[in-house]
Amino acid sequence: MDGNDQIFPLAFGVGDSETNEAWEWFLSRLHKAVGEVDDLVIVSDRKGSITTGVEKVFPNLFHSACAVHLEQKMVGHYGSNKELKQYFRRATRVYRESQYLQRMEQSAHINPEAAQYVTDVWIERWARAYSPRKKELPITRVIDYIRGILQRWFHDRHTAALKLTTQLTTAADVAIGVKDEEARYMWVYPITFYTFNVKVGGLDGGLDGNVDLTTKTCTCKEFDVDQLPCAHALTCIRLRGFSFVDYCSSYYSIAFLATAYNVKIHPVRQPIEGLVPEDIA
Ligand SMILES: [Zn+2]
Repeated sequence: MDGNDQIFPLAFGVGDSETNEAWEWFLSRLHKAVGEVDDLVIVSDRKGSITTGVEKVFPNLFHSACAVHLEQKMVGHYGSNKELKQYFRRATRVYRESQYLQRMEQSAHINPEAAQYVTDVWIERWARAYSPRKKELPITRVIDYIRGILQRWFHDRHTAALKLTTQLTTAADVAIGVKDEEARYMWVYPITFYTFNVKVGGLDGGLDGNVDLTTKTCTCKEFDVDQLPCAHALTCIRLRGFSFVDYCSSYYSIAFLATAYNVKIHPVRQPIEGLVPEDIA
């Protein structure tokens, strides 16, 4: 994802089908392009051939399941239930284990089998149940279609980023606004100049947080994971009169976003003999 909560296109490949060989080929090319990256996470539907490829090519990274695919699978097996989907979505978004367990318990009250199914997904290798039949298209048309989409995305997002007058991306600004609202019901108890205990009014203490502004961390984990101040941290930043922008990762800055999309996507040309590397041809 980019700093504005949009998918950033990194690479794409076309294979005959989703076989072990096709995924291993794509992932090995991806590995060659991005190299070794700390804290890299791959998110997929965890289909068997992707998992096999990831284990071979990126043995040390965290391979996470895509929540959207998982929800679709759950609905496919157990039927659509608005409340169940809401609890599941919340469970995928919370940071604390206690909150996750609470949401999953609520899901289990509605449909215990469905809740167990999403819990077990880490060990299950389920097959794709409803794959639409693929339409045959000449490969150059497929590539050019994808290229056209990327050209539009890069142009539109680069232009939009240049027009913004804020320091942070729109998505980061909205997220900070929501946290600011939560922060209205919090009380700060300083421990040192940069460390604080933040209490949430009217609750039993389960949502309190201990903030350390020097390490940009909070016991709620939100500050650490998102690298954007959580509501606890915002109250402390305001108390000290600091700028919250200084506590957001540069990843959320407009300058970073504009640079990420400042790439020219060229039209597809006919391959010129001798210019295509052997391992790609
Ligand atoms: Zn926090």
